[in-house]
Order: sequence, then C-alpha cells, then structure tokens
Amino acid sequence: MYTSVCKHCHKVFKSRIRTACCNDCRSTDENCFDDIVEYLRRFPNSNAVQIAEELGISAYVVLKFLEEGRLELSRGTFSRLED
Ligand SMILES: [Zn+2]
Repeated sequence: MYTSVCKHCHKVFKSRIRTACCNDCRSTDENCFDDIVEYLRRFPNSNAVQIAEELGISAYVVLKFLEEGRLELSRGTFSRLED
C-alpha cells in the first residue's frame, strides 16, 4: 500500500497503486485531465503555468499528471517548473 496526498483536496489516503488522487476526487481528476488534454490539443506549446491559469487549476495539479505518467508531452515546449 502507498500513502499519498491527494493533489486536489490534500487529504492523506492509502491506495494500492501510486496515485495522487483520492477516491472522492476521482471525477474532479477526470474532468481536469480531459480539460488539460483538450487545451493542449488547441495550444500545444503551453507550459504548466499557462494551462493552470487558463483552466483555473493549480500548476501543481498539472505537474502531478506528468509525474503520474498520464500526461505525455512529446511535442511542444512544455517545461517543468524549477523548484
Ligand atoms: Zn481528494
């Protein structure tokens, strides 16, 4: 079991797979993901900050999708934020 922190509600939860989304936020997560994919289709050269601002979500959420391996950005200039 993995202990993770939900990227949406920041709740700590346990899960079988490594994920950054708790069960309560599943549908939020799916909607978020669809919005990002759609946005990148229209604006392929966007970075995490632009996506986040445009969709009204946090850049952290966008980067988490990358970390989870759900968002693949082979094209364009999508860049990771320096921390
Ligand atoms: Zn959550």
